[in-house]
Amino acid sequence: MSGPRPRIGLFGGTFDPIHQGHVEVADTVRTVLDLDRMLVVVANHPWQKQDRPVTPAEDRFAMVVAALADHPGLEPSRLELDRGGPSYTIDTVRHLLDDEPGAELFVVVGADVVAALDTWHEHGQLRERVALAVVDRPGVDQVRPPAGWRSVRVAVSPVDVSSTELRTILESGGSVAGLVPEAVIRCMSERGLYAKGR
Ligand code: ATP
Repeated sequence: MSGPRPRIGLFGGTFDPIHQGHVEVADTVRTVLDLDRMLVVVANHPWQKQDRPVTPAEDRFAMVVAALADHPGLEPSRLELDRGGPSYTIDTVRHLLDDEPGAELFVVVGADVVAALDTWHEHGQLRERVALAVVDRPGVDQVRPPAGWRSVRVAVSPVDVSSTELRTILESGGSVAGLVPEAVIRCMSERGLYAKGR
């Protein structure tokens, strides 16, 4: 007997570092879409971010684990780290569907990512397998997904922060209190991350 299809959210990112905006998105989308699981998937080699050095994947993953420790419904995922190589969402989706062929998958993307969806690796294959959960991002205009994507917009309380802004603050010795969870600040300091200017 088969039960209802599990509803699984996939929130991928570089998370360099994870911040309150990410946590708010993951929490809200999980609740609003009534997901059975919400995976926060750390990119191993984020192919979109080759213009700058990226913090080692294990450090980024450790920060995600720290950030989500008190959010039992949000699961840090090592899928892309353990697979190695470039991180393509389609590979992660295929892996999840191999494990749970009936799952209904929602790929969570911020408004800044939506316009570029058709540059994603095997986007045609991806489009057939998932729906998008699109969240607004402060300072970014709303864009409709390209033709052919199934999508739902999810309203999320705006948190105006980016990882780029955080790296800039940290590298000049500033404080990111309030912008990232406390546990992430502890993790950064234990691992000596982003400490260039200090
Ligand atoms: P960077 O500044 O290094 O580009 P980022 O803050 O955009 O990083 P990513 O890890 O690249 O963070 O983002 C992962 C996902 O989270 C993307 O879909 C992005 O649109 C979304 N996102 C990031 N920050 C926010 C935010 N403040 N509000 C809503 N969505 C966000």
